[in-house]
This record gives sequence, structure tokens and C-alpha cells, in this order.
Amino acid sequence: MKINLISDTVTKPTKEMKKVMLEALVGDDVFGEDPSVNHLQSKLADMFGMEAGLFCPSGTMTNQIAIKVHTQPLDELICDKTSHVYQYETAGYAYNSGVGVNLIDGDYGKITAEQVQKSIKQVYDWLPISKLVVLENSTNKGGGNYYELDEIAKIKQVCDDNNLVLHLDGARLFNVLVETGESTIDVGRHFDSISICLSKGLGAPVGSVLLGKSEFIRKARRFRKVMGGGMRQSGILAAACTYALDNNIDRLKIDNNNAKELGALLSGLSFVKSVNPVKTNIVIFTLKDQKAVDFVAKLAMKDIIAAAFGEYQVRFVTHLEFTEEMKIRLFEVLRLIND
Ligand SMILES: *Cc1c(COP(=O)(O)O)cnc(C)c1O
Repeated sequence: MKINLISDTVTKPTKEMKKVMLEALVGDDVFGEDPSVNHLQSKLADMFGMEAGLFCPSGTMTNQIAIKVHTQPLDELICDKTSHVYQYETAGYAYNSGVGVNLIDGDYGKITAEQVQKSIKQVYDWLPISKLVVLENSTNKGGGNYYELDEIAKIKQVCDDNNLVLHLDGARLFNVLVETGESTIDVGRHFDSISICLSKGLGAPVGSVLLGKSEFIRKARRFRKVMGGGMRQSGILAAACTYALDNNIDRLKIDNNNAKELGALLSGLSFVKSVNPVKTNIVIFTLKDQKAVDFVAKLAMKDIIAAAFGEYQVRFVTHLEFTEEMKIRLFEVLRLIND
């Protein structure tokens, strides 16, 4: 039994999802004529009270397009130092948009309204223009931490007062909403644009959707095309994403709970120095005196796949393929390593 907790992106389409994909109505989406893509885009836009949506191959693309539409070269974006847009998108902000990045030293990936306020640059010829704030919810490298809406509202206020736009990298947003009980409509009110990944815990094989005003999405479509993301009969993929939204949101609570249980177990093990607070489906812990790569290799020999996340840090991400049986096995192996 292989237990792969390297990421929630490893989830594969189920039989039911594949059936929906097989039967999907399709057309040419570059002409805007794929009914399954159009349905997914408007379904998500409606959920968040946004005017329009754009289906893209990845969350990197939705984030990169958002940065591109919201900024001009020589502007800068403000984000936490662990943000996906800064760490894991190949410096695309510089390459695609010609913007700088103004990093904030946040708390497990979360930044505050005060920090944003302080980081806004004055207007001088020799400084980039602060233009865009990117929040990540939940935080990835930050270990699954999340914002509550009142914290976001304060940041939005700072943005409004200073002519900044606010983008949400909501790759794992639904893992947050099953915890807070907040509504998608309320989230939508606070952002100029939102990126949602369907290919993580929601279980679709491919796809992210960018949401925003109609004019924003009209521009975004052009950038999706130039980045090579204009797909043809992509309704086969969009149908899987719609299925994921209809069936796999509520069950994310199970993933979050499994992560919390795993975190609690790790806290009591002698080889663990500390466990970051577990808020959603990501568990990051620090080893006492062995290197993360060695520990991860040891687990791999037992068919358990985790990510080495820094010299002494290891990450597990729970997801819908992590069964009760696997949980029992994983806990057993971790206790054995402890002895
Ligand atoms: C996974 C992820 C993305 C998008 O990743 P892709 O692999 O390009 O789909 C964006 N932001 C965060 C926080 C993520 O975890």
C-alpha cells in the first residue's frame, strides 16, 4: 500500500469523475464555444459573486495572468515571503509582467493590514509603484494557515485607501471555508480577482479558474492565449472540475481533520522537535537531529511519500485518496520509527 502525501495534487480522477468527463459536452473554447467550460466559469463566478471566470491549465497561469492584467512594468506586488507567486512560479512576476516584488515577513504565510500599509512605497522616480497585493489562503509554504474575513477586510481597506488591487491565490481556499464556515460570496466581495485550483484537494486532474470583473477577464483571455493556455475541447477537463465542486468540497473537512490528527501524533514523538500549527490539510514539522532528506528516504522505504521541506523540515499534505486504512498504517510506521 503506497501512501502518497507529498501533495494534494497527486489525487487522480475517480470512476464517477471519469464518467462525467466521458460524457461532457464540448466545443472549441478558444471561440468561447465549449459549453462545459462556460458552465464551470459561470458557476464559479456566481458562487463568488464575480462577473466572469476563465478556465486555465494551472494555478500558476491564473496567478501570472492576474499579475499581468493588474500591473504595468516597473510596478511592484506586495506579498508574504513564502508566497507561491514569489517562491514557486519561476520568478514569473519579473518575466511575464516586469514587476518587482516587495516581500513581507508574515506569520506562517499571513500578512497584516499594518504590514501592507507600511510596505507601500512613496511615489518617486527611483521607486517601483506599489500596485498589487497578493494574499494566499490557505498558505502553502506557510503550512496551511488561513485568514479570517475580518483580517482580509482590513487589508482590502488599506488597498482601497491607497489605490492598490487585491488578488487572492485561493489554491486551497475551500479547505479554509470548510473550517471557517464563511461563504464564497463574502470572500468574493473583498477581492479584485481570485484564483481557485480544482486539481488539488478537490480532485480534478487539471485546471484552475481565474475570477474577476468582465473587463478584467476580457484582458485575461488575451494573456491566457499568448501564454499558450487557449485550449480547444477543454470541456472534458472542465466537466471534471464541475464534478469536483459539486461533490468534493464538504469532504475537505475530513482532510483537515486527518492533518490535525497527524499533527497531534507527531507532537508526541521523540524524533520530532516541533510541529507547526495545523489549521487545514498541511502538516509541517521539524526533526530533532536527522536531516529531512534522510527521514523522507526512510519513509519511502515503507512506501510513504512525504516532502523534505527545508533542511530539517518535512511536509505531509492530506487529501481524498488518504483512507482510514492508510492512516492506521502511517501512524503505525511513525510510532515504529519513534522506537
Ligand atoms: C498549487 C498552488 C498553486 C498553483 O499551482 P499549479 O501547480 O500551477 O496549479 C498556486 N498557489 C498555491 C498557494 C498553490 O499551493
